[in-house]
Amino acid sequence: MSSQRVDVQRLEFDSEFEKSLRPQKLSEYIGQEKVINNLKVFIHASKKREESLDHVLLFGPPGLGKTTLAFIISNEMGSNLKVTSAPMIEKSGDLAAILTNLNSGDILFIDEIHRLSPAIEEILYSAMEDFRLDIIIGSGPSAQTVQIDLPPFTLVGATTRAGMLSTPLRERFGIHFRMEFYKDIELSQIVSIASGKLGKDIDESASFEIAKRSRGTPRIALRLLKRVRDFADFSDEVKILQERTESALLSLGINSHGFDEMDIAILNRLMDSRGKPVGLKTLSAVLNEDIGTIEEVIEPYLIANGYIEKTPRGRVATKKSYELFKLSGSSQEEFQL
Ligand code: ADP
Repeated sequence: MSSQRVDVQRLEFDSEFEKSLRPQKLSEYIGQEKVINNLKVFIHASKKREESLDHVLLFGPPGLGKTTLAFIISNEMGSNLKVTSAPMIEKSGDLAAILTNLNSGDILFIDEIHRLSPAIEEILYSAMEDFRLDIIIGSGPSAQTVQIDLPPFTLVGATTRAGMLSTPLRERFGIHFRMEFYKDIELSQIVSIASGKLGKDIDESASFEIAKRSRGTPRIALRLLKRVRDFADFSDEVKILQERTESALLSLGINSHGFDEMDIAILNRLMDSRGKPVGLKTLSAVLNEDIGTIEEVIEPYLIANGYIEKTPRGRVATKKSYELFKLSGSSQEEFQL
């Protein structure tokens, strides 16, 4: 019972911590240069015309800043933000309630938008296109369609699975952005700023060390920073230094290439098969990990960085992986945590 309470407190702390670290304006945003530059234009142009911003679709793995961008869009537009996620919209009435409570210019953020049911998606089409809600009341010959006008609003949809979004829904978004993994230098800046906000001094080499091992993802960088800070506090160190960072990250099971245990397990399994493609189902069974998690969370970073390749028959390790494993020692066994 008591451990549950601690977990809840930790969660609250984490979300408060995350909230306090979110950049509030486009000008404060680090990284995603292309997305930010384009957004600046679209936001300023729609404000000039006094229109709501076109609907925005954000693609990309978790933790890259999609929710943060939705907050920034609402701040920059000077409008309210309503946040929800597709699994929470179960019935058409749930969506109708959300849409009819919107005010002119509001931003509606729907996370995991690929998980909307087809029936709910259909309601969204006319809402997005004509700011109109078509609701069918009753069934059979006596069924009636009631139309409700909606105020102009902007839907910001986020998805980790670009391929799972239906074409009609995708086409109703006027603005599409693909989020990229962050460069080490960008993550290092994010870590330094976050550490400052936590009231803890950090050496540049230490923030870079955390950045290098964060799989290009701010959420991971911030999580690692918090844990490294624990190690520094435990040892009564006022400043986070590189040596402490390295030893802390090693105890957390994060190796110097930023791979965690699951990355290494996948790479080892693929290299074991000596170039023969391994299907997702096999990977999922061997690693005891959900297929969706492998596809959405684990492999995008390994693919983006050229460690594995997708083929029609499955995944294969690339030359880069074999070379890396050879470089780190003479055998694969040595490339473990
Ligand atoms: P997503 O919605 O893509 O899963 P979030 O927007 O929730 O990701 O971001 C995850 C965490 O990373 C948040 O704590 C956020 O503050 C932080 N974050 C994301 N992008 C940036 C950035 N460019 N600068 C600073 N912090 C960022």
